[in-house]
Amino acid sequence: MSTKVAIIGAGLGGLACAIALRKQGFEVQVYEKAKKFRPAGAGLGLLPNGLNSLEAIEPDLVKNIKSFGCCVTKSSLRNTLGEIIRSSPRRDLFWDKYGQPLVTVWWWNLQQILASKLPPDIIHLDHRCLDFQQDEDSVKIYFGNGKTASADLLIGADGINSAVRKKLIADEQPRYLGSFCWRAVVKCDQSFIEPNELVFIRGDKQFMYLLNLGDGNISWITRKLSPEYQLSANAAETKSRVLDEIADWAEPIQAIVQATDAERILEGPICDRLPLSSWSKGRVTLLGDAAHPMSPAMGQGANMTFEDAYALANCLSKSSSIEKAFTNYEKNRLERTKIIQTYSAKREMRYYETDEQKAGRETPPESPTIDEIRQWLYSYKPL
Ligand SMILES: Cc1cc2nc3c(=O)[nH]c(=O)nc-3n(C[C@H](O)[C@H](O)[C@H](O)COP(=O)(O)OP(=O)(O)OC[C@H]3O[C@@H](n4cnc5c(N)ncnc54)[C@H](O)[C@@H]3O)c2cc1C
Repeated sequence: MSTKVAIIGAGLGGLACAIALRKQGFEVQVYEKAKKFRPAGAGLGLLPNGLNSLEAIEPDLVKNIKSFGCCVTKSSLRNTLGEIIRSSPRRDLFWDKYGQPLVTVWWWNLQQILASKLPPDIIHLDHRCLDFQQDEDSVKIYFGNGKTASADLLIGADGINSAVRKKLIADEQPRYLGSFCWRAVVKCDQSFIEPNELVFIRGDKQFMYLLNLGDGNISWITRKLSPEYQLSANAAETKSRVLDEIADWAEPIQAIVQATDAERILEGPICDRLPLSSWSKGRVTLLGDAAHPMSPAMGQGANMTFEDAYALANCLSKSSSIEKAFTNYEKNRLERTKIIQTYSAKREMRYYETDEQKAGRETPPESPTIDEIRQWLYSYKPL
């Protein structure tokens, strides 16, 4: 079995897969387009299936993530005046049932925890992959800085706008789902949100999550129903747009956005792609958002990516050829990710339903129910 692996993308999936492959004895190089690692991304939620996959890769990772991030023990639903509509303990729901909590963590912290498990000299920053060529013996990769690299196999872990996927699959652009998003991380007064709490604020065709990320950081993520969208011209305009959108919301919520450095607000459309029936050819395969980008409505993008990382490393270590390994990897991952991609797209629009629309839809109850889907998702055992 070939042993030299090139991974494009030092995001969550690329780094997790590099750790898993090195533990199986593969020689791995990771190529990342960013010129340096810097605080980036927003908060995200790691769920039992993702944490179990990370634990299977390296138990220490999950210990570090739990001590860095926030183990959620309570969630509350509020209206835009900040009043609590419903509040529930989360501990029973996740920990007791699935043996893992819900952990909210900053993308950047997660990236750094993963990177710290790799020798720095195998991560090559300022290497934007532009193209690759494969033949019977190897893959040659071409970078924007003029350099090239060769490997026995190539893994595209370069996110939703993957350059590897563009060459491999040549499909259409990501699909806009009609939901527009602003998100950021801020260190600010925490009187509105309790430690270890996750807050969901429901507005009119708009909502906001507040996540504790540990170390005094909060992430706010707001999405708005927008059949069409336009990006802001600059950071100041982005911030004033968000403040306009929540102008009649409770003052403490506005204060969290007000305290955010405009340059740190991420703005963008929520997109996915339609599921593929295969995502490998010859010596090249895909992983994470490059393979199956999905709406964040089920909070599964990163979690599915960690499932992929473990599964791919496992298939490569147990198969006698690349072809067999990729066949097993796809057998393991295609159906599951297709279900959750499709379900997540549907759930994105559920956020914007009125109470009447919800009530109308709930008779008869949908099948499978959200609880059945969650049960299936969270009780996944890394394969
Ligand atoms: C609003 C929002 C909220 C979310 N919330 C959650 C959540 O709660 N839970 C969850 O599980 N998921 C969530 N996600 C999804 C999650 O962030 C992604 O699914 C996850 O980061 C995918 O990991 P990845 O490694 O595939 O891609 P990424 O994390 O996007 O990493 C890709 C890496 O590749 C690099 N790269 C890109 N192109 C190139 C190139 N040509 N050459 C070299 N390097 C390149 C990038 O710089 C980046 O470092 C959310 C997403 C959004 C948009």
